[in-house]
Amino acid sequence: MTTDNVLAEIKNLHTYFYLPEGIVRAVDGVDLTIRAGRTLGIVGESGCGKSITALSLMQLVPSPGRIIEGEITYYKTIHKTAATSTSDVIEITKLKPNSPEMRAIRGNQISMVFQEPMAAMLPVRTVGAQIMEAIMLHQKVSKAEARERAIDILARVKLPNPDRIVDTYPFQLSGGMRQRAVIAMALSCNPNLLIADEPTTALDVTTEAQILDLMRALQKEFNMAIMYITHNLGVIAEMAQEVAVMYLGKVVEETDVTSLFRNPLHPYTQALLRSIPQLDDVMARAGKKKRLETIRGMIPDPYSVLPGCTFHPRCPQYMEGVCNKAIPEVIEVEPGHTVRCHLYAAHSARAQAS
Ligand code: SF4
Repeated sequence: MTTDNVLAEIKNLHTYFYLPEGIVRAVDGVDLTIRAGRTLGIVGESGCGKSITALSLMQLVPSPGRIIEGEITYYKTIHKTAATSTSDVIEITKLKPNSPEMRAIRGNQISMVFQEPMAAMLPVRTVGAQIMEAIMLHQKVSKAEARERAIDILARVKLPNPDRIVDTYPFQLSGGMRQRAVIAMALSCNPNLLIADEPTTALDVTTEAQILDLMRALQKEFNMAIMYITHNLGVIAEMAQEVAVMYLGKVVEETDVTSLFRNPLHPYTQALLRSIPQLDDVMARAGKKKRLETIRGMIPDPYSVLPGCTFHPRCPQYMEGVCNKAIPEVIEVEPGHTVRCHLYAAHSARAQAS
């Protein structure tokens, strides 16, 4: 993993939801680093806290959730290992969600693309009007200039006839075209960081491949960082350079994408990888009634506080008296490859002794 070009750092983030039924610890001590021009993939099952981590970064956590601990630092000028002046450093967690400073960051420095494009666009306003509004909110440009820029950005996301699309309503576009329009809206202010939360889940595979190609091309063109959230390891393999695997509000493994697929360390990551179909397996299964492996058990009740490792009720390598007693610490098993699991405690002890 590279050690410089840091754009944003999340340290010890805790975002909890206080509900009448109890406390949901949606994000429970997350550390992440996002680097300029690179894609950090966040992967995990629904409810693991990946979307709430992203919403915390944008200060958009819905009520009754709130950040209760931790720091999110955003470097307006790319952070080259401590060479950044303090005026370029923004402590996002110290800003009020609706403060002018936070509004200036949101949509301008950091943008977000969601799974469902219809939810991101107003159905009663044209695509162009919505992109122009985003541009005029952050930049001092005339209406005519904003319209020109809107047409230009629609062309860059490869929408055909952008000077016509600019005057259409979202419902007049196909799902793939709508998602391109939403990406155009997110990119309209040239953000340093694009958060993409399952942006292709609602699309067919061909359209998904086109959107992924487009995002990679735009990343190169704009040199922006992408935080790509998904439950799909296939998409992670295509998009990300670094990957964080999340389970029940915690990052359980983090490394570069090649190491994750070649040498997954955490039993949860290993189980996730076993649950995706390989072409060889599909061929071998043809004619035989063999099922894909699934991760045993269910994600526990969100209000429960499990002792020890939160994956222990589902873990095939569970160690009685260890895994159900102590919370595993983060262990660096090889340079840049960290894991939260007691199986690697011996490695940690060796590292401390040497
Ligand atoms: Fe499994 Fe124990 Fe490791 Fe948790 S700490 S993942 S229960 S082996």
